[in-house]
Amino acid sequence: MLKGMKLRLYPTRKQEQQLIIMFGNDRFLWNILLAGINQRYKNNPSFKVPTNRQMDYLLVPLKAEYPFLKDSDSTSLQVVTQNLYQAWKNFFNDKTHKFGKPRFHSRKAAKQSYTGKSNVKVAAKRYVRLPKLGYVKTSSTESLKNCKVKRYTVQKEPTGKYYLSLQVEFENQELKPTGKVVGIDLGVHDLAITSDGIKYDKLQFKQLEKKARKWQSKYNRRLHGVTNIVESHNHDKHRLYDLDVQDFSNWQKARKNKAVYQAKIANQRKDILHKITTELVKNYDVIVLENLKSKNMMKNHNLANAISSNAWYMFKTMLAYKCNWYGKQLIVVDPKNTSRICSNCGKKNHNFDNLTQNQWLNIRNWTCPYCHKNHDRDINAAKNILNRGLKQTNIQLVKD
Ligand SMILES: [Zn+2]
Repeated sequence: MLKGMKLRLYPTRKQEQQLIIMFGNDRFLWNILLAGINQRYKNNPSFKVPTNRQMDYLLVPLKAEYPFLKDSDSTSLQVVTQNLYQAWKNFFNDKTHKFGKPRFHSRKAAKQSYTGKSNVKVAAKRYVRLPKLGYVKTSSTESLKNCKVKRYTVQKEPTGKYYLSLQVEFENQELKPTGKVVGIDLGVHDLAITSDGIKYDKLQFKQLEKKARKWQSKYNRRLHGVTNIVESHNHDKHRLYDLDVQDFSNWQKARKNKAVYQAKIANQRKDILHKITTELVKNYDVIVLENLKSKNMMKNHNLANAISSNAWYMFKTMLAYKCNWYGKQLIVVDPKNTSRICSNCGKKNHNFDNLTQNQWLNIRNWTCPYCHKNHDRDINAAKNILNRGLKQTNIQLVKD
């Protein structure tokens, strides 16, 4: 599904300068190609206007002749050839003469713009990353989450304001209802456990994590080393050159490798979370999670790990937007006592009241003193989470 979107852009002075160049380049390319075609058309009326592909071949020699063209997003130059070819096609195919011959573009046009086909990425909250411009401040990037940009246009309106128009592709289709509901507990030993008893392992990438740690410590060590050299060197007034930590390649190598392994871990984590969340959204109509903010997680080492790895947060975010895409429902409930209440009879097990944190976390199974049902700790919690969520929305309560 394609959708149009418009965001305000707030370029810096430097970026404004760059934009002037890029607007100018598109205009320059259009005009120079048009002039060439006009000339040849005049010399030979049976001359066939080159297709945009044929014009794209000219981009290489043109860039060599006019190196400033390299300052543009190269896909924007291809959009120019596309538009020019389209303009000629309209002119030739137009029986009603609605379209005139393509005209030269003026630098005095009130509206300046260029269009590219590169991927525009959300770099941070309210920042997008644009080719040749880097990070540009923008209005909200919320609406851009999880969609693919097919085409973008940067334009300066006559008011002097800058805008980014986007053509984006959404993955938006409703999935068939399954009639199934699920509660999910964040596990101590696993990533997540469902009320149906499905366990998803904690995300671990031992080999990669080992390498990332290795390069992290090399990075720290080398940074420390080069900082010492730089400081001692730059304090020695007799030396001729100032040194900077950036000048040391071994440190840079460590920085790069560290980043590579960290990115690999992050990507694999993302892939797995995508698989799990897609599976959940496909299989259930209502998904209930506990609200983690109110859960005092940092006390526990394992949970602190899970949180620090950010996996659970990502898991929740993915579920939220996928439920949205596929027409499913996500409910977030208060996590209070979900592990201590019996999901069968609904009573709280007071035998747990005086346990230490560690003793409590080591309990994997327990039997309800009231209804004598035996529980897996995490599955029971997931069932309580589910019931709490269904109660909140007046959907029928599920029991064993
Ligand atoms: Zn019970």
